[in-house]
Amino acid sequence: MGAGVLGSSIADRLARSGWDVTHVERLAPGHVRSGSGDESRLIRSSHGPDALHAQMARRARELWIELDPRLFVPSGIAWFAHEADGWEAASERTLKALGIPVERVDPAELFPSVNVDDLAFTLYEPEAGILWARDGVRALADRAVTAGAERITAVARPDGERVVLDDGRVLEADHVIWACGAWMAELFGDVLDLRITRAEVFYFGGDGSWATPGVPGWVDFDGAAYGLGDLDGRGIKVGPDDEGPVVDPTAVDRQATPERLEAARSYLAHRFPALAGAPLVGNRVCQYEMTADERFVVAPHPAHGDRVWLVGGGSGHAFKHGPALAERLESWLTRAEEPEACFAVGERRREAAMRTAGTRLAG
Ligand SMILES: Cc1cc2nc3c(=O)[nH]c(=O)nc-3n(C[C@H](O)[C@H](O)[C@H](O)COP(=O)(O)OP(=O)(O)OC[C@H]3O[C@@H](n4cnc5c(N)ncnc54)[C@H](O)[C@@H]3O)c2cc1C
Repeated sequence: MGAGVLGSSIADRLARSGWDVTHVERLAPGHVRSGSGDESRLIRSSHGPDALHAQMARRARELWIELDPRLFVPSGIAWFAHEADGWEAASERTLKALGIPVERVDPAELFPSVNVDDLAFTLYEPEAGILWARDGVRALADRAVTAGAERITAVARPDGERVVLDDGRVLEADHVIWACGAWMAELFGDVLDLRITRAEVFYFGGDGSWATPGVPGWVDFDGAAYGLGDLDGRGIKVGPDDEGPVVDPTAVDRQATPERLEAARSYLAHRFPALAGAPLVGNRVCQYEMTADERFVVAPHPAHGDRVWLVGGGSGHAFKHGPALAERLESWLTRAEEPEACFAVGERRREAAMRTAGTRLAG
């Protein structure tokens, strides 16, 4: 259930392995209100000291390129490190141990204008890049259909181990997998603890020297911001990443707020001085599906054994893992491997470990 990046990755993986797949989506794969409905997403392996996520991200990158090399823009990603031995230094050690390319660089060689006054160093992942996100989700969902999956447009609701559709049909299966993004909170709020929070991204106008590729993607973990250059003329992207308010993903108005716009403008002026005063050329409002520790939920429903699986809690990173997570999920369904304990349903300790320190800054 669900045709965002997680549901589509799973439908694609299972259909291509010969499973009999029915893929249900209320609207369209990558629709504008889904988490997966944006144009671009960063694909990088750095996850601090966490080797499992670094390896999964590296594998997902390979799978995206295998799906269609045009989906992946090999721009590289720069990490602005505020501390000599913080999250980025831990990432560097982990990636080196895994043989994933990473190096320290002078950011003046990567950006037309950059301020490093508050930085200890800049880490660079040369093989990281940007995914054409919505196009990628559609490519996965379509490949699932080509491999034999049936796609149904309907609203689904759980009825024990069964699925009831709003057109009256009732679906039964050996395994029912719910991957409904932000809507998992209302469907399974009794067993999942998800915070659905508002996120905003902004696009600013610059000159041709800010084109990506050329200019890499970037993440400021401790500064709680990320972005990229101008991808295909869309504008220079900046995402201020302090935790936003809880929202209803169906009803929220998707208009920029002045506070977030000001946060984006002031980050831009601070980090990339030549862009101070750059005009706003667009914006998007999206939502995160946050777990307390920013790790996915990929686990059997506690009341239904492995007949019903819950998949979600993307917490700002389902694109960099989706296809690899689907591969792992298949090995858990066939019992070739034991499910990853860190993705289980249950209590989680609050931690800002995976994305930026925005949640930590928000308290
Ligand atoms: C601003 C922002 C920046 C991000 N940046 C990155 C990044 O750089 N890298 C990265 O890896 N990730 C990033 N993410 C996170 C990533 O986009 C999300 O984790 C991901 O899109 C979530 O995918 P999903 O499949 O879980 O959910 P969704 O994409 O929301 O898909 C869920 C689908 O389920 C459907 N659905 C819901 N309820 C029902 C129902 N009852 N019946 C039928 N269908 C239903 C919905 O219509 C929807 O299509 C970012 C997210 C945001 C908001």
